[in-house]
Amino acid sequence: MNFCSDCGNATSLKIPIGDNRERSVCENCDTIHYQNPKIIAGCVPTFDNKVLLCRRAIEPRLGFWTLPAGFMENNETCLEAALRESEEEAHASIENPIFYGIFDLPHINQVYIFYQGDVIDGSYHPGIESLEVKLFTENDIPWKFLAFPVVELMLRHHFKNIKNKNSDIYTGTINKSWKK
Ligand code: ZN
Repeated sequence: MNFCSDCGNATSLKIPIGDNRERSVCENCDTIHYQNPKIIAGCVPTFDNKVLLCRRAIEPRLGFWTLPAGFMENNETCLEAALRESEEEAHASIENPIFYGIFDLPHINQVYIFYQGDVIDGSYHPGIESLEVKLFTENDIPWKFLAFPVVELMLRHHFKNIKNKNSDIYTGTINKSWKK
């Protein structure tokens, strides 16, 4: 941030008194502009032992497959955000959602939170941010064309759960150096 969102004056990086790291501080009104990680909420929508994926119509990773997920809005819960993203990206309504996974991505200041739930009536069609949406069995998943590491990890965990007939929660960290 170069300018104060409160008064418009220039900001500079300083360690405020009592703090231990640099913040954008306004030279004029002394407002400290804290920047913190963003939360992305998403779903693993399932139907008939298949998972619903969306092919991205937007950058980044246009044309690659992803789980419905997006930035949480103010005044909503994580679960509400995850269900909203499924509606927006896949026009899929989800029932019986359960908490399913949390991923820290410290190198890009993001936290992903996933829920798993059933697609009501197996009904879906592409939202404006999706080129197509489709149900995949484990063998049909386009593993080489997934948009983000978090999608691959969540899917592999899901199919492991199916195999073991449980619904374990995934917790993990994805770093810059993450490789398949
Ligand atoms: Zn200011």
